[in-house]
Amino acid sequence: MQKSKKKNILITNKNKNFIFLDYASSTPIDFSVLSVMNKSFKEDFANPGSINEASLLTKNKLTKAREDISKIINCRKEEVVFTSGSTESNNLAILGVLFVYKKNKIPHFITTEIEHPSVLEVFKFLEKNKKIEVSFVKVDKNGLVCPQDIKKEIKENTVLVSVMYANNEIGTIQPIREIAKEIRHWNKNNKNKVLFHTDATQAINYLSINIEKLGVDMMSFNAHKIYGPKGVGVLFKKREIDFGKIMYGGSQEFDFRPGTENLPLVLGLAKALEITEKIKQKESERLVSLRDFFIKELKNKIPNLLINGDLEKRLPNNINITIPNLPSDLLVVEFSASGVFISEKSACKSGEKGGSYVIKAISQTTEDVPSLRFSLGRFTTKKDILYTIKVFSNILKKLSLWYK
Ligand code: PLP
Repeated sequence: MQKSKKKNILITNKNKNFIFLDYASSTPIDFSVLSVMNKSFKEDFANPGSINEASLLTKNKLTKAREDISKIINCRKEEVVFTSGSTESNNLAILGVLFVYKKNKIPHFITTEIEHPSVLEVFKFLEKNKKIEVSFVKVDKNGLVCPQDIKKEIKENTVLVSVMYANNEIGTIQPIREIAKEIRHWNKNNKNKVLFHTDATQAINYLSINIEKLGVDMMSFNAHKIYGPKGVGVLFKKREIDFGKIMYGGSQEFDFRPGTENLPLVLGLAKALEITEKIKQKESERLVSLRDFFIKELKNKIPNLLINGDLEKRLPNNINITIPNLPSDLLVVEFSASGVFISEKSACKSGEKGGSYVIKAISQTTEDVPSLRFSLGRFTTKKDILYTIKVFSNILKKLSLWYK
């Protein structure tokens, strides 16, 4: 990723200038991450699973990356399981618990209605096939789940609660510590113990990921939301959890995830996480100020604008809005034609017809509600925001001929 002479514009394509405001979908790679990976792609070809000297070197590098990550999230190194990304980590967390369940009664899981598809779809599939019972807990109109509502659902056959740390569409931050407290309280007073998993994929850029402080048993995240490579992620899993696996083969990753480890990607993830931790505080403050400026300007310019999601308990980089009666796909295309790249709903669901299930959930309706997501990131500047606002005004002026 480069910056052009016109500082507010990013160049990722030789011939085209544009402003990228879709960081919640994917981030550009950090150049120091890229150089760590480049070196590793050249040098680290030996399989960490063999016992020759070249393999021992790669194995040591893999262990060091695992250690570095474990220090950042405050766990033991054998609790860091490398995966292909958050989708796999989420699947592994849920199915890993299910596959070792031995009691006669069908197991019960608790989640929220606004989780990422890599959690929701797993639960829906298992429920449909009568493998599990699931409570899909509702969120309020601000997109927040109430810890008491989670607590109310826990029962004798509950095995796992999975609640995302921050939502990918509306950026709302869930009360993870409070939910953990409710689960601890249940576990203290009951024979059957309930585990707690969180999908921290969107939160990791801006929020604390100290697992002790959060009080979680499992946590998923990936590298490509933190300016690292796609195709690599982590499932943090407490050592003492009885756990199965979803793929069979070699005994890599403590026998939880077979397949030759992809060292260059793992080193890229470790480097990306190290950088993210270093700049987290400052970057969060910078983006909160840009985000709030953007929201204020939009409110001034668009009287019927609705902001989706809580304004306080919200990721620093997220702005999600609805303009009633204006189709969001049309707006995304109009923005794109003006060189501003935003999104409508989760990238994973963009191919599907219909509005966002997250916006429907907070709007408490079954009707489609149009929504737009602007997600800011490390390269976003005030100039980008000013330009985006100008583009927005022009688009609205143009569309006002057709949409009243
Ligand atoms: N969970 C959340 C909250 C996400 O935002 C994403 C990606 O958009 C995922 C999971 C899936 O991550 P991956 O692309 O690494 O499989």
